[in-house]
Amino acid sequence: GVSRRGVRGNFVSPIRSNGGSVGNVTSRIGGKSDDALDDSTRTCLELLCGPDGELPEKLRNLEPRLIEHVSNEIMDRDPNVRWEDIAGLEHAKKCVTEMVIWPLLRPDIFRGCRSPGRGLLLFGPPGTGKTMIGKAIAGEAKATFFYISASSLTSKWIGEGEKLVRALFGVASCRQPAVIFVDEIDSLLSQRKSEGEHESSRRLKTQFLIEMEGFDSGSEQILLIGATNRPQELDEAARRRLTKRLYIPLPSSEARAWIVRNLLEKDGLFKLSEEDISAICRLTEGYSGSDMKNLVKDASMGPLREALRQGIEITQLKREDMRPVTLQDFENALQEVRPSVSMNELGTYEEWNKQFGSLS
Ligand code: ADP
Repeated sequence: GVSRRGVRGNFVSPIRSNGGSVGNVTSRIGGKSDDALDDSTRTCLELLCGPDGELPEKLRNLEPRLIEHVSNEIMDRDPNVRWEDIAGLEHAKKCVTEMVIWPLLRPDIFRGCRSPGRGLLLFGPPGTGKTMIGKAIAGEAKATFFYISASSLTSKWIGEGEKLVRALFGVASCRQPAVIFVDEIDSLLSQRKSEGEHESSRRLKTQFLIEMEGFDSGSEQILLIGATNRPQELDEAARRRLTKRLYIPLPSSEARAWIVRNLLEKDGLFKLSEEDISAICRLTEGYSGSDMKNLVKDASMGPLREALRQGIEITQLKREDMRPVTLQDFENALQEVRPSVSMNELGTYEEWNKQFGSLS
């Protein structure tokens, strides 16, 4: 279990006074203080304390509830995606291994000329595995994974985005090596100026760039991954910091076949012939990885629906009563699940890739 340093009398706790910040004000945990932190916040802060029982410098002036939010909601202790779960994208996997995984595993070798960029951009249509890659990187590099959607900073954390960003980078620097994955990074670093939120979004952007600068130069083992399906909205400052930019395209026909096979095999439902698979591949041109997953889900309902149509009660249904998933199930599912990416969107990505992508 978790060691509760706080129970020992000598632990000096960071405390929040009247919604203020952790830090200089100290008090004994366990002492009866009116504005004491609640248990979960205290546990969370204790886990971030160094061997000396003190909260690291970077976290001292941050609000405990923000640190707690980062630790509990944004930090993912077990991202649970492996390279082999990701279909296709061989090129991206190879680049990423060299550019970011090796440096995170062997910082001693990757210095000087070999020092890596600290910012990676994954761009391309939605549902193609960008988040999976982020998680897999963290897994392979044995790094702590942080996931935040940039649009939540402007929508959910109105007025507090900057503070949350500071807490995010602060906690990450206590949890190195760390991978910070910022989804929809365009909404944070876009060149477009939306009305109203003008000033606050500009400050948020500045704060974010400052934090990035902070670990870019230092010896910190932090990698920032931005993901976007609107790369054209990133401005020059953003591009400069995201030094490696990888195009994550729609899955190839082989990758689509792999996704179908993999998902059905996991459930022991795979009975399709090679011809069936080829037919499915032909019919799913333009489908993203996530579309494929939805398609398989829908198709796998086919046998169940049929059994129920024949009058079997759901409560009485036995697994043996269901036939395997067939090509016909996929053909039916294709009516329900349409591709989510349009062909002219793809042109935009390819153009941007030619201009700004890392074609290593
Ligand atoms: P993105 O971040 O690019 O929008 P995600 O990585 O979140 O997309 O993918 C969403 C889901 O779609 C994944 O959880 C996975 O089930 C499926 N998927 C997408 N791309 C792939 C892929 N290349 N290989 C396997 N599954 C994929």
